[in-house]
Amino acid sequence: MPTALITGVTGQDGSHLADFLLDKGYRVFGLARRSSGDNTQRLANIREHITLLDGDLLDQASLLRIVEQTQPDEVYNLAGMSFVPASWQQPVLTGEFTALGVTRILEALRQGCPTARFFQASSSEMFGKVRESPQRETTPLHPRSPYGVAKSYGHFITINYRESFGIFACSGIMFNHEGPRRGLEFVSRKITHAVARIKVGLADELRLGNLQARRDWGYAGDFVRAMWLMLQHDEPDDFVIGTGVTHSVQDLVETAFDHVGLDWREHVVVDPALYRPAEVDVLQADPSKARRLLGWQPQVEFAELIGMMVEEDLNLVEARNQKPENRSAQERHVVS
Ligand code: NAP
Ligand code: GDP
Repeated sequence: MPTALITGVTGQDGSHLADFLLDKGYRVFGLARRSSGDNTQRLANIREHITLLDGDLLDQASLLRIVEQTQPDEVYNLAGMSFVPASWQQPVLTGEFTALGVTRILEALRQGCPTARFFQASSSEMFGKVRESPQRETTPLHPRSPYGVAKSYGHFITINYRESFGIFACSGIMFNHEGPRRGLEFVSRKITHAVARIKVGLADELRLGNLQARRDWGYAGDFVRAMWLMLQHDEPDDFVIGTGVTHSVQDLVETAFDHVGLDWREHVVVDPALYRPAEVDVLQADPSKARRLLGWQPQVEFAELIGMMVEEDLNLVEARNQKPENRSAQERHVVS
């Protein structure tokens, strides 16, 4: 039975990847940091089938202990501070988690399990002020946020450990990917959750920032399959993972409101306070290398993805509306 270790297992991608690997017959270990509250809601359906281990990307000793103890065949480093605006509020901490954290886990592998295959969750935010469109593996980086800068460090240290120590280390340069498990602060989920609340009469207004920004939005379930395929490849390599199709935030708004038969213009308010200090105007992937070498193709397209998210949020909002005390801590925070 192959063994996988997932950091960031409690997050959107970590939970999808754990589902995927369990289906493939893996033994799954998840590294989770201690929280005063329950942060395992996304794992509710599989909690008994995986093993959670206490660790933190800030704590080198915990990483080495977990790697030595589990001796994984594959390690997926999905942990990190993943929300761009928060990276301006906490730039140093973002660097600790999202940049140096990658070196810490790679060091733990080098010392404790050097044969493990390693996946690093890199980001299209590294392209930032894009130098060419669409973006491919060779496109120069120009990050526009402390998050993007930290991810660029993580990308290059992954390549460096491959070149220096022969570790089977891969960097997946992932474009935005979403789904019903996405955090409520990200624009896709913020919109689909608000649409559901407006539809059932719990809210009337949705405040957003820059509606003209364009992203290449895919489905998280498709992306975890790409992570796994990278680690099954003959050679460690870096791959752009995205759909190749770009939409504006306004397109996303229209698609979500249309799905429930509402006119977005009656509800959306543009709030300049939600604009970013430096924006990434447009991202569009060129995923041809992943298609050619890994046989990877996304299966869920944009309108289907947004429709799925609105439907799930309608179910959630209706269920929680009947029992408000069942809202998650994050939802109480965002909704209030
Ligand atoms: P997410 O939902 O925010 O999950 C992040 C995970 O990291 C959570 O499990 C979180 O744990 C954990 N974490 C944060 N700091 C940690 C620390 N110091 N030690 C241990 N764990 C820590 O993010 P996601 O959407 O699943 O994304 C997964 C990875 O892919 C992230 O690195 C993200 O930056 C990257 N990425 C995502 C996208 C995207 O569109 N989703 C695109 C490109 C790259 P808690 O539950 O305790 O907070
Ligand atoms: P990101 O691409 O990783 O930063 O993912 P987000 O979902 O946080 O943001 C995607 C785009 O939506 C960015 O260009 C934001 O400026 C834009 N956007 C517009 N309004 C909002 C908002 O209210 N919240 C968020 N998170 N993003 C917004």
